[in-house]
Amino acid sequence: MEKIINNFLQEVGQRNTNEPEFMQAVSEVAQTVIPYIVSNDIYHGKNILMRMTEPERVIMFRVPWIDDSGEIRVNRGHRIEMNSAIGPYKGGLRFHESVNLSILKFLAFEQVFKNALTTLPMGGGKGGADFNPKGKSDAELMRFCQSFMTELFRHIGPNRDIPAGDIGVGGREIGYMFGQYKRLKNEFTGVLTGKGISWGGSLIRPEATGYGAVYFAQNMLETRGASFEGKKAVISGSGNVAQYAAEKIIQLGAKVLTMSDSSGFIHDPEGINEEKLAFIMQLKNVNRQRIDKYVVQYPKASFYKGKKPWSVSCDIAMPCATQNELDSVDAKTLITNGCYCVSEGANMPSTPEAILNFHNYNVLYAPGKASNAGGVAVSGLEMAQNSLRYNWTRDEVDQRLQHIMKDIHQACVFYGKEKEGINYEKGANIAGFVKVADAMLAQGVV
Ligand code: NDP
Repeated sequence: MEKIINNFLQEVGQRNTNEPEFMQAVSEVAQTVIPYIVSNDIYHGKNILMRMTEPERVIMFRVPWIDDSGEIRVNRGHRIEMNSAIGPYKGGLRFHESVNLSILKFLAFEQVFKNALTTLPMGGGKGGADFNPKGKSDAELMRFCQSFMTELFRHIGPNRDIPAGDIGVGGREIGYMFGQYKRLKNEFTGVLTGKGISWGGSLIRPEATGYGAVYFAQNMLETRGASFEGKKAVISGSGNVAQYAAEKIIQLGAKVLTMSDSSGFIHDPEGINEEKLAFIMQLKNVNRQRIDKYVVQYPKASFYKGKKPWSVSCDIAMPCATQNELDSVDAKTLITNGCYCVSEGANMPSTPEAILNFHNYNVLYAPGKASNAGGVAVSGLEMAQNSLRYNWTRDEVDQRLQHIMKDIHQACVFYGKEKEGINYEKGANIAGFVKVADAMLAQGVV
């Protein structure tokens, strides 16, 4: 089996040189899905996983814009349309200086499996630009978004490809891009998700990824007869996903000890309560400042410059910042300090070595493609509401989200049950694969 997997990875690697993040995501899937393919005749010999690693289409384009001093700047935009077997392409846009083809292809590949897991009819895609929004004025940001959409609009549409937000793309950026799309096409359609409530957005969409990752953790804890009540949680990040993961954890009676940004992390031994979280939301979403300001406001907390929060003792860890932010040493430290549940809010935040440690020590570990699928699930619900020209209440959307997370958990248990416990990684990979592979087989070689 090892030889088959290695030959497969070698062939994919030769076609995708210098794409380490993409190869990491493919390798992680191959380890669990290839054995399943080999033991299931309907998938064997069809080159189906190889076809899934090749994007249906990659679009790369120039994004010129003018900064406030009148200087002309240029960035590179991308959209990876990875797989449309079960529905139109769906996945976020990331604006971050690190964005490149490898990162977007890894995200698009993961998105295909994640979207399949949601039970909703959505294919997978991802996009973005190597643009750093930090320190840009509002006018600069608007000009950049407008220029980005001036090219992207030809490739997307409510039945073709429906982008959403990701790192660096929140409600403000979605608004500027939606405005430009509407102007160029002269039509008001659900072409983007994460829209404002008064212009086609869904209630609970901002909360969905963070809440969903907590609901998933709740389902995992229940398999051991446990709950969030009275537990200690450590969170990385302080953006959209981290903020709402923290909010839900606090509501469920656990203590949130840490949050972070790219400058370092804050540790509040008394716990980040609702009032303190409101301060962080104001700091990050409105004032757009660094996390160290927290300790000025709350002096009993400490700030650790350039550090990650994994050394803080906890029961539950939720990495909600970025890829590969939790390595093997971090995993060992977490386990030694008593952590037994890890639910990923971010995409691929744990390295393969960290994941191995979680498996070896029987940690309840949920890969992002399962645990953070609540965001795209509610995006799917936003699309449904747009098509119906109707809005569901906050409670209706939250109920649907909780159902979907429970269904994803069940699918992971179904395909991931092993004698040592539940391998959620294996379960998520195979459940996602089966749905997409069945559709691809039915649709022929296209
Ligand atoms: P935001 O831009 O709102 O927040 C990102 C947070 O992560 C910020 O606190 C940011 O700090 C921190 N961060 C980003 N890059 C790094 C880095 N290289 N090192 C340390 N910290 C970093 O993004 P989101 O909250 O939307 O996304 C976070 C993660 O969740 C990503 O992996 C994303 O792909 C994933 N995700 C998001 C979904 C969504 O609905 N938004 C859906 C599913 C997954 P700073 O401000 O200093 O950059």
